Amino acid sequence: MKIVLENLTKKFPSRNKKSKDEVIAVNQFNFEIPDGKLIGLLGPSGCGKSTALNLLCGLLEPTEGKIYFGDEDVTNLPAEHRGVGFVFQNYALYPHLTVMKNITFPLENLKGKDKLTKEEMQQKAIEVAKLVQLDGLMDRKPSQLSGGQQQRVAIARALVKMPKVLLMDEPLSNLDARLRLQTREEISRIQKETGITTVFVTHDQEEAMSISDLIVVMKDGVVQQIGEPQEVYDEPKNLFVSKFLGTPPINVFAGKVEKEKVWIGNDVVLDAKGIKDQEVYVAIRPEGFILSEQKENTLTCHLQAVEVMGRDVSVVAKHSLCENTVIRAIIPSENKVNTASKELYFELKKNKVFLFHKETEERL
Ligand code: ADP
Ligand code: MG
Repeated sequence: MKIVLENLTKKFPSRNKKSKDEVIAVNQFNFEIPDGKLIGLLGPSGCGKSTALNLLCGLLEPTEGKIYFGDEDVTNLPAEHRGVGFVFQNYALYPHLTVMKNITFPLENLKGKDKLTKEEMQQKAIEVAKLVQLDGLMDRKPSQLSGGQQQRVAIARALVKMPKVLLMDEPLSNLDARLRLQTREEISRIQKETGITTVFVTHDQEEAMSISDLIVVMKDGVVQQIGEPQEVYDEPKNLFVSKFLGTPPINVFAGKVEKEKVWIGNDVVLDAKGIKDQEVYVAIRPEGFILSEQKENTLTCHLQAVEVMGRDVSVVAKHSLCENTVIRAIIPSENKVNTASKELYFELKKNKVFLFHKETEERL
């Protein structure tokens, strides 16, 4: 099921009694979610991710704009008629019910021609339990399950009505690191197997990048960029997006363009053909540094430490014009860093360096 959002906007009255300003939690969303894909809605806490998801499922009414599922306008359709499954961060299971009963719960209230017998409900529950690998645990209560298993019950419950759309709000946040990794792979597998259009909300860029077909990066209720994870990483549209994606984070320097050259302090580090003279942000991915022997046309930094990571080496350095506390450069471990030296010279890989306008912070 394709989803189309048209000028979708949600405003809330301010929570601060003194201020009359309203909060625009979701601001003019205009995009299409292709059928059968997994979309990662990504942004820092408070940027409007949950609000967007609640609008999609019908728990909230938009202030403005429209939502289409396929060709159908569902903007005013109540949540229970939208055919969506919802998975919350805190599983929200019924503690006194067995896994089986938790999963069949959404089927109990079906009426008329949709009404199912007990056997039919159990059959459906067993099918989805297999899909999320819970079969064998059907008689347990939630308290007898691990966090990962509880979240799988929640996913099974969301899937049992075979929704047209699956919405997940930070479903992995309550799991420990190892389970988070395992469960996210499982969500990706389940999504591919069922082909259900899925919107997955997270503030964790690595999580979103690893399982999404497309990511939507948000800030303050406004969509910043939409694209395939690699494409957004490789071609960020603005400074915010470049900083939000990637670990270690991108290294941001105050620099300038002069006579079609990029300057950081007194170092000329790259060509900037066709860009007029101005102050800029120079943002360099950690993998964009190449150790060099020479001081000409390289960036001089102060060496702090070398951290061995196995295949790669992380060089920690400082530069007075870098806004990050320290610079992190990831270089192949074959490179020998002279730790006796205080100064380091870095050549830069052109496709790993982005220039941003000093005021608008848009890519140049
Ligand atoms: P996220 O899920 O990305 O953390 P939310 O969608 O929960 O963000 O919130 C987006 C913004 O809307 C925040 O500033 C939040 O304080 C505000 N907000 C959310 N729900 C309400 C509400 N019911 N009343 C007033 N403000 C709200
Ligand atoms: Mg949220």
